[in-house]
Amino acid sequence: MSGGFSAFAYLVASVCFIMALRGLSSPTTARRGNLFGIAAMTIAVFTTLTLPAITGLSLLWIIIAVGIGGTIGTLVALRIVMTALPQLIAAFHSLVGLAAVLVAAAAFYAPEAFGIGTVGHIHAGSVIEMSLGVAIGAITFTGSIIAFAKLQGLVSGKPLIFSGQHMLNLALGILLLVLIIVLMVAQSPVIFWAIIVLSLALGFLIILPIGGADMPVVVSMLNSYSGWAAAGIGFTLANPVLIVVGALVGSSGAILSYIMCKAMNRSFFSVILGGFGGEVAGPAGGADMGDKTIKQGAAADAAFIMDQASSVIIVPGYGMAVAQAQHVLREMVDLLKEKGVEVRYAIHPVAGRMPGHMNVLLAEAAVPYDEVLELDEINRDFSATDVAFVIGANDITNPAAKTDKSSPIYGMPILNVEDAGTVLFIKRSLASGYAGVDNELFYRDNTMMLLDDAKKMCENIVKALEQS
Ligand code: NDP
Repeated sequence: MSGGFSAFAYLVASVCFIMALRGLSSPTTARRGNLFGIAAMTIAVFTTLTLPAITGLSLLWIIIAVGIGGTIGTLVALRIVMTALPQLIAAFHSLVGLAAVLVAAAAFYAPEAFGIGTVGHIHAGSVIEMSLGVAIGAITFTGSIIAFAKLQGLVSGKPLIFSGQHMLNLALGILLLVLIIVLMVAQSPVIFWAIIVLSLALGFLIILPIGGADMPVVVSMLNSYSGWAAAGIGFTLANPVLIVVGALVGSSGAILSYIMCKAMNRSFFSVILGGFGGEVAGPAGGADMGDKTIKQGAAADAAFIMDQASSVIIVPGYGMAVAQAQHVLREMVDLLKEKGVEVRYAIHPVAGRMPGHMNVLLAEAAVPYDEVLELDEINRDFSATDVAFVIGANDITNPAAKTDKSSPIYGMPILNVEDAGTVLFIKRSLASGYAGVDNELFYRDNTMMLLDDAKKMCENIVKALEQS
């Protein structure tokens, strides 16, 4: 393919990628966005495969690599359960980071193949691009592995803070910059590998202290890092579409991180620098529950209370995803609506385990978009609502976020379910949520605990409603 035509094809692919992002910004246009993304990636891959630099042997290697990677990716995608998607995304981000490190290492040891100079005499501009790519890639690699371990429950979700942590990160960051400058002057493999090792350590140290409640920001932040790492690879390979796509992912991830920080009332820099100057993490015990008692109910009680209500707000959380209760929940809501009850859904920005998690599940159950409202659209309505029906949610309703300054979730806006006439809580036990903070709402007078698997409980409520 001629240079002019491939440049044109890359431009078309870049525009399609932008259209994909545009489409994905709303549930109503998300499918179209996905189709644009698929088209863009297809154009980009085929254009790259027809570049003059891709000869017979390298094409064979590429086909073998794509075959192996594609098979593993397909198998993983087919088997993954929806609730494990966030950790899968974290794991995939780590691979982007690793790819950036490997490409930079290849360019460092064989610069002639990349047209960026000769061994020991790589062009200064390329050394900067390569160093930044390798540093961001290595930080993304270890950071994503820690995020994966936290989301998978292999490492505690509680904030792990040690004294001098910020000074250590700052010192390592400065040392990293110094090493990059030294590498420009003396292109020694020892300095190159020192940059990699230091960056790997930084990724580990930045993500490890971040507590469970701030993990949503970490996921989107690593998404952003992986984009910048890809842009770095694009510069090393002189591939314009990779630079554009990397920058799109990098900047959209940064914007998403900013939006999540605002939604959670966190300082962007406090999270991005590993809790720099951030909130003091107290013991993740929250309120002292003493020997308080709960009011426990059965499906028939819940059906009766909602049948009598004129308005109900559903608050879905991670447990709904675990139980896959969205379809039977929709059935329950349909029955209530038939009985003249006004029902709406309230979505907290960090409900579940990934941005938009609840929206995706409710869309899967064909819940009309206009019944699904964001926190700031609906929060004031709880006080005028008869029943808040909390299904598998916990942290996003916890008043400790408003009252307990020592709590790791302090400052995060919550859904004010406690203001409703009655709060029905479906979960299996009195255990805490992802942030590890006890929820004193369970013990309030206007709360009724429905202790069971969310799907089973909803099925029983549906049966009870059908009989009433
Ligand atoms: P939480 O993790 O606070 O609570 C979920 C609750 O669901 C648990 O307390 C659990 O209680 C219950 N549960 C689990 N399985 C079932 C089941 N089968 N049936 C019924 N209940 C079940 O979730 P929230 O959605 O309230 O809050 C999200 C949390 O995750 C926040 O802390 C957020 O910061 C964090 N997070 C969010 C991300 C995002 O991007 N949205 C990413 C990473 C973290 P029990 O065991 O008693 O049943």
